[in-house]
Amino acid sequence: MTADTEAKIRRGEICSFCGLPTEVILHSGWRERKCPSCGASVRCHFGTERGMGRVAGSSLKRLRKEAHRWFDAVWKNKIKKSRYNAYSWLALRMHKNKDDVHFSLMTEEECRQAIEVCRHIIMKENPDLYRDLSEKS
Ligand SMILES: [Zn+2]
Repeated sequence: MTADTEAKIRRGEICSFCGLPTEVILHSGWRERKCPSCGASVRCHFGTERGMGRVAGSSLKRLRKEAHRWFDAVWKNKIKKSRYNAYSWLALRMHKNKDDVHFSLMTEEECRQAIEVCRHIIMKENPDLYRDLSEKS
């Protein structure tokens, strides 16, 4: 990471979780810098668009995104035949009905469980992929 990128992360201009540029939004009268992808945000110094620090918060959103990333890797890499099969498999492993498995509704605990289940099968079926994915998390 370049010094420039690091400085931008410290001012909240780049999301430290996604590496994406943040957007300036107005939130209850304050400017905030907010990541368009994971929703992590930081308040700006008054009258400026400079973040008071790195983006934070929204750990649940980050966890959901992380769970989705591991899950997508399972079916996109054909460890499960299709997205549909992968959902059925995950539901079974999480002791849920298939229709009740939605990443956007998962609690932190459920996200951690889904990540664990997906990590485990990837580690077993495709160690190289597992290494790649682990480096990016
Ligand atoms: Zn982000």
